Amino acid sequence: MERQQVRQRIAENWAQVSDEVCEAAKRSGRQSDSVRVIGVTKYVDADWTADLFEAGCADLGENRPQVLWSKADSPSFPSEVVWHMIGHLQTNKVRRLLRYQPLIHSVDSERLLQLIAAESVQASVTTKVLLEVNISGDQSKTGLSPSEVDDLLQQDRGEGVEMVGLMAMTGLGADHATAQRQFEEVRELRDQLSRRSGLPLDELSMGMSGDFVDAIASGATMVRIGSRLFSGLLG
Ligand SMILES: *Cc1c(COP(=O)(O)O)cnc(C)c1O
Repeated sequence: MERQQVRQRIAENWAQVSDEVCEAAKRSGRQSDSVRVIGVTKYVDADWTADLFEAGCADLGENRPQVLWSKADSPSFPSEVVWHMIGHLQTNKVRRLLRYQPLIHSVDSERLLQLIAAESVQASVTTKVLLEVNISGDQSKTGLSPSEVDDLLQQDRGEGVEMVGLMAMTGLGADHATAQRQFEEVRELRDQLSRRSGLPLDELSMGMSGDFVDAIASGATMVRIGSRLFSGLLG
């Protein structure tokens, strides 16, 4: 496909998804700008990723740090991108990743949280993070149990990181009703943990291409959408 056709298709997909997100927010009695779309670009190369940004998607998400930084560093890649790290993060990748000032959605251990804090202090930055909760109890999924999240929030937070909310994924193959219930559980957990910890925990990162409408109905503030944005373009 010609580059121009690709651009056009990505722009159309972006417009369509943005409309659906706005509609879902309004139907839930929320402001349409209360939900941010994180464009998940793990399926495509740096050129198509840049096309999505040009179409209007300022927030981009990658699940592998090496891919994030190789795109960010590629020639003429837009520098205004707000990066989101959404996949499992190995501790030896943290220092380099922090150069790109990402919001890290996938904090799934105390050790990782402490390291992000220490490296952020070293780099004189404050890194915003979400704690990834495994709500489905699915062993194949990463994430902290609700009680582990509670423990982390109770601890002395020190400097370097700001815990701004929770991230969750529904279980593999979850049907509509199950997904809805799990999103509600995440929201309730957040409300409860926010009261206990005294932290606002405003951000809820949940919902993907197949289930973002339900996630928005349950209070998602960030939806991580990948395949819908590239539909018609991936094999
Ligand atoms: C791939 C991925 C997404 C996007 O999934 P789609 O179904 O393609 O929208 C969202 N979150 C995470 C953590 C992912 O790895």
